[in-house]
Amino acid sequence: MFPSGKVCAGLGRKRSTFRIGLAPAEHDWAAPNSVRPPLGGRFETMKTVDGASGDDLDLHPRADRAMCLPRLGYGQQGLVQLLVARGVRTTVAPLYYMGHNPELSLVPIRHRMGSVLDPCTQIRQKPWVERAESFRALPFGNDPEPYHPDRSRLTDQQLLALATSPIDAERGRGGTLLLTTFHVAGAIGTRGRDVELLLAETGIKHFRQQKMAEPPPMAAVDVPRVIYATVAVRMSDLMSPTARLRLVDAYLALGADGVWVKISGFHEKAAPAGIRAVGAFFAALREGPVPIVSCGAGQLHLALLADEISASIGVAESERFVVPATWKKKAKDGKRKGRTRMAYHPRLHCSFRVGSENARKAFRQAPCDCGAHAATKPPTGLLVAEHAAILRADQARDALGGDTEERREWVLGSAVKASLDSG
Ligand SMILES: [Zn+2]
Repeated sequence: MFPSGKVCAGLGRKRSTFRIGLAPAEHDWAAPNSVRPPLGGRFETMKTVDGASGDDLDLHPRADRAMCLPRLGYGQQGLVQLLVARGVRTTVAPLYYMGHNPELSLVPIRHRMGSVLDPCTQIRQKPWVERAESFRALPFGNDPEPYHPDRSRLTDQQLLALATSPIDAERGRGGTLLLTTFHVAGAIGTRGRDVELLLAETGIKHFRQQKMAEPPPMAAVDVPRVIYATVAVRMSDLMSPTARLRLVDAYLALGADGVWVKISGFHEKAAPAGIRAVGAFFAALREGPVPIVSCGAGQLHLALLADEISASIGVAESERFVVPATWKKKAKDGKRKGRTRMAYHPRLHCSFRVGSENARKAFRQAPCDCGAHAATKPPTGLLVAEHAAILRADQARDALGGDTEERREWVLGSAVKASLDSG
């Protein structure tokens, strides 16, 4: 099944005129786009990428300007130029990749870029043997026991270290939008959530006390830094309106520069009631004064962008925030599988496992015009990531462009088209 109208159901959008085929055939931004409305003010800052005006430092989401923040995987630093050319100003990468792949946070000197180095502290909830070696090498990654939000003991000293060391490490690696420590915990009132709020509060205080917002003089990274409170929660814990509002109030009260939201179970395959509940959660969060970023919502990120909520989405992998992560999966012979790579299909609005028969069929029936590979065949090898980066950035631009009603119509139209194509 494909997402069909469900994509928008949670965000309270009504069905409107059916419009399809809006993806531009070319990816040359200088060329006039006969289908999409002209780019709005939100892209004007791109003109200054090569210059040194104040706009040059305006790289992070704002409450009044949503952004797409692509999440790079291992070895994907080569995609940065391509993304910059398509209007991306800030990328995301897991902090623990930096040990082996520091190039992910390096950017060409003529492009100032924002960088989010996700501490992925939820991996502490996995058994030690299942954590990547590079994660265990981090000061907060090597606890022998998996962290259990409701049961694990923490001394004051341990709590302080857990709240501050990820932030220090993110700053040390060149992060500009820093995230607080987080685990997937329960509703307000549970012990685990109390600890989560304390971790976030302590981290934010540390950021302010250390004056991390101001880049030091002569710093390699001279972009002003911001700190976001990270909330990780299961979709099932957001079903009650009271639970949602209490969570919203608690996280907005932390006084962070933004809220980074990871919801396990929230993606295009989720039940409509869950998608609606999360839609209401985001609607309540955005009532606050700070920007909200949805992280790992799978294909739903487009609907969120169209609704002017910033979204981070993986390029060819890590499209969804899940517990546990995909690399834990074992193959039939009991060996650990490699990372699952997905080829996103632009017209069907969903992703297919690279090498699967479904992927071959989808691209044969509905060719892709990204230009990185043969249109009627799914991308392979290095082209998988390139294909994904082009499409993610282009579709984000389409979802963010034009006026609000047109955008909603576009997302809905694409989703309906997807369901027709797949039927
Ligand atoms: Zn393609």
